[in-house]
Amino acid sequence: TQRFIWPMAQFGQIINMYQRAYASAARIFGLMDEPSRIAENPDAEELAVSDGAVEYEDVTFGYDEETIVEDVSFTVDGGETVALVGPTGAGKSTVLKLLLRMYDVNEGAIRIDGEDIRNVTIPSLRRHVGYVSQDTFLFYGSVGENIAYGAFDADEEEIEAAAKAAEAHEFITNLPEGYDTMVGERGVKLSGGQRQRISIARAILKDPEILVLDEATSDVDTETEMLIQRSLDRLTADRTTFAIAHRLSTIKDADGILVLEDGQIAERGTHEDLIDTEGLYAHLWGVQAGEIDDLPQEFIDRAAE
Ligand code: ADP
Repeated sequence: TQRFIWPMAQFGQIINMYQRAYASAARIFGLMDEPSRIAENPDAEELAVSDGAVEYEDVTFGYDEETIVEDVSFTVDGGETVALVGPTGAGKSTVLKLLLRMYDVNEGAIRIDGEDIRNVTIPSLRRHVGYVSQDTFLFYGSVGENIAYGAFDADEEEIEAAAKAAEAHEFITNLPEGYDTMVGERGVKLSGGQRQRISIARAILKDPEILVLDEATSDVDTETEMLIQRSLDRLTADRTTFAIAHRLSTIKDADGILVLEDGQIAERGTHEDLIDTEGLYAHLWGVQAGEIDDLPQEFIDRAAE
């Protein structure tokens, strides 16, 4: 059975646990930067995205014999934002790794604009599906080169425009050599908030129709958080967005929220729907808003099963 770490007291702790778990997963699995472990279909064609609609149909998956994602079905219209919430280990990042084809589903299918993603080439899939996190890999190179990663034909002007939209231009110009400052291993160390904005700038430049967002807010100050939020709003507007949600604002305004528990969708709906349901989401919200001190025992017990 699955081992859960269950958030006990404050939403702040929940966020930390999410972050820690996610950070280690991203480090270990490197997400976008790792070579794919899956086989390309010899008849694969280039993915063509029109609306950016995404459909999961009865998706079941396990890394080994153990089922981690079970019978997950949902559809997202092009341009919509869906937030995934749930306890650490519930399977949120696994669900999204399947969309990037870090792994292939065991059962069911994932489709983009009706096309099964197993029938498209992996490079074309990764061109259309962007990934943003603060654990983004920075290679040893200049800040500018790091922003242009994935958009090799970008010129200086475009790089700077993307950095401005990502609220990164100002801190970059304050680096010793501006856009030419070397970062990554052996280079200037950037903070989590700065790396996240580099990652956002990269995504703005790459301009994918579909975006996977790990919104982990590290120990950033309020101003940085505001900057990040503003740049994320720009980035996600008119793009199909999947967000592993840590920020209330995103959760609240999302077109849909999926509450994952033990690899299954336990609740779904808008923020208002889920508050009315008075289930796990409503209680997490209550804890975070300071309306209740802790999750009711039934939820803690359920996660420990
Ligand atoms: P969440 O994002 O909700 O915290 P994850 O999708 O990261 O959940 O993890 C779901 C479950 O899958 C956890 O039990 C985790 O230990 C397991 N898991 C994640 N990645 C791997 C992997 N590469 N190999 C085996 N198990 C994994």
